[in-house]
Amino acid sequence: MTHDLSDAQPNTHALHLDAALLSALRAELGSRVDTAAQMLETARADRSGHISSGPPIAVVHAESVADVQATMRIASAHRTPVVVRGGGTGLAGAANAGPGQLVLSTARMTRLLEVRPEDLLAVVEPGILNLALDEQLAPHGLWWAPDPASRDIATVGGNIATGAGGLLCAKYGVVRDAVLGVDLVLADGRLVRLGRRTVKGVSGLDLTSLVIGSEGQLGVIVGATLKLRKIVSETPCTLTATFAEVRDAARAASAVTSSGIQPAVMELMDALSLASAHRLLGLADPAAGASQLTIQTDGPAGPAEAEQIAEILRQAGGTVSITLDSEEGERLLSVRRAMLPAVETLGTALIEDVAVPRSALADMFDEVARVERQYGVTIPTIAHAGDGNLHPTFVFAGPEVPPVVWDAAADLFRSALRLGGTLSGEHGIGLLKARWLAEELGEEQWDLQREVLRVFDPAGILNPGKVFAVE
Ligand SMILES: Cc1cc2nc3c(=O)[nH]c(=O)nc-3n(C[C@H](O)[C@H](O)[C@H](O)COP(=O)(O)OP(=O)(O)OC[C@H]3O[C@@H](n4cnc5c(N)ncnc54)[C@H](O)[C@@H]3O)c2cc1C
Repeated sequence: MTHDLSDAQPNTHALHLDAALLSALRAELGSRVDTAAQMLETARADRSGHISSGPPIAVVHAESVADVQATMRIASAHRTPVVVRGGGTGLAGAANAGPGQLVLSTARMTRLLEVRPEDLLAVVEPGILNLALDEQLAPHGLWWAPDPASRDIATVGGNIATGAGGLLCAKYGVVRDAVLGVDLVLADGRLVRLGRRTVKGVSGLDLTSLVIGSEGQLGVIVGATLKLRKIVSETPCTLTATFAEVRDAARAASAVTSSGIQPAVMELMDALSLASAHRLLGLADPAAGASQLTIQTDGPAGPAEAEQIAEILRQAGGTVSITLDSEEGERLLSVRRAMLPAVETLGTALIEDVAVPRSALADMFDEVARVERQYGVTIPTIAHAGDGNLHPTFVFAGPEVPPVVWDAAADLFRSALRLGGTLSGEHGIGLLKARWLAEELGEEQWDLQREVLRVFDPAGILNPGKVFAVE
C-alpha cells in the first residue's frame, strides 16, 4: 500500500555507516543482531497494510534491559533511527521500519517477573503477550483488563505504547487505567523508573501517563507495573438487540450509557458489517438493513442489569433477546469478532479509528453515511459503543488506498473533530494519521508536544517520521 514517509533510499555513504553500526552492535550483542532477509522484510510492515520503502539495517532481538541499553547507546552514538517493535500488530504504521533504520524488538522479553495478589499488581517484561499474561495470572484468580482483539498476538509493551483498548474497556477501562509504572530506556541508553507501586501517588509529574500512547517516541518500555483485577466468577448475561436503522441502535447505546448502568461489553455493528459477518460464519441472513447491539453484563448484578438494559433497548425500538448461557453468549460475541475478516471478503480494508463523546455516536454514524454518499465509497462500521469509539472500515479494490478513500477518510476525521471527538480512540496516530494531528492539537500544543519529545530524545532518533511528521 502507501509507502513509509520516514525513510530514504540508501547511498554508498549510508551503507558505510550501516556497516560501522552493525559491527559495533555485533561486538556487544552477538547473534541477537539479525540481518536475515526474511526478518528485515517482516519489520517493514505492521498490520495496517502499509509497508516501508525498503528493509531496515537490522533487527536487534533484545533479551534483557542491558541489551536494550546497549542498543540505544550504540544507535545514539551512530545517530541511527530506532523503531521499537513488539508484536507488529499495530494498525497505524507506527512500527514500520525502513532503510537507514534499526529495529529494536522486545518480543523476546516475555517474563512475568512478579505477582502480588495482596496489592493487585504484577510486574512484567514488555514482550509478554496479553493472552500469556492472563493465562499466568489466572491461577492467582487475577487478570489484566485491557483486551484488544489482538490479545493472542500483541505485546503488553505495544499495548502501553499505543494506549490500547478492547471490548471490555466499556466497564474495565483502557491501558491508561491499568498501568501504575513503566521502566523506560531513554534514547541515550539511560534507564528511568517511572510511576510507583501504590494506587495513589502525586509526587512530581505523571511521566507514566506521558509514556502511555507515546508510540515508541519517548523511549523503550522495558518493564511495567500493572494494575490487576480479580476474575469475575459469575457467567455474563448476553443481550442482542436489532434495529431497523443504525442511528436508532446508536441512540439506544447512548441511552444505556446515560442510564448509568455499566455493561462490560457494548458493541454496535452496522448493517453491512453484520450481514458480512453472518455470511462469513455461515449464519442465516439478518433482516435486510438491520444493525445490531451486542451487550454483556457481568458480576453479581449482571442478570438484573441485563433486564434493565433490555427494557431501555425495547423502548428505543430494538428487538431484544437475552441469554445466560455462556456458550451462546460467546457465539453471539463471535459475530462481532468476525467483523474484520468479514469485511475483508468485500475487498481491501482500511480499518480506521475515531472516537466521539458517547452522546454523539448517532451523529457520527450519520456522518459515515454522508461520506459514503458524497464520495461513493463503502464504509462498513462497527463501534465500541460503550466508549463512543468507531472503526469505520473503508473497502476498496486493489492493494493501494485510492486518493478518493483518503479524501473520504479526511472528511470523516474532521467530522469526528467537529463533534468534539478525536482522530484515534485506541490505534494511535503512527504514520497513517500524522498529517491530521496538528488539526486536532492546534499549533501551540503541537509545538509544545514536539518540545517534550526533544527533552526525551534530543537527537530525534526514536521512531522519526511518525506521529508528528510533516509533509
Ligand atoms: C486483528 C487485530 C485486532 C486488533 N484489535 C485491537 C483492539 O481491539 N484494540 C486496540 O487498541 N488495538 C487493536 N489492534 C491493534 C494492535 O494490536 C494494538 O495497537 C497493540 O497494542 C499493538 O501491540 P504490538 O505489540 O503489536 O505493538 P507494535 O505493532 O509492535 O508497535 C506499536 C507501537 O508501539 C511501539 N512499541 C511497541 N513495543 C514498544 C516498547 N516495548 N517500548 C516502546 N514502544 C513500543 C512501536 O514502536 C509502535 O509505535 C488490533 C490489531 C489486529 C491486527
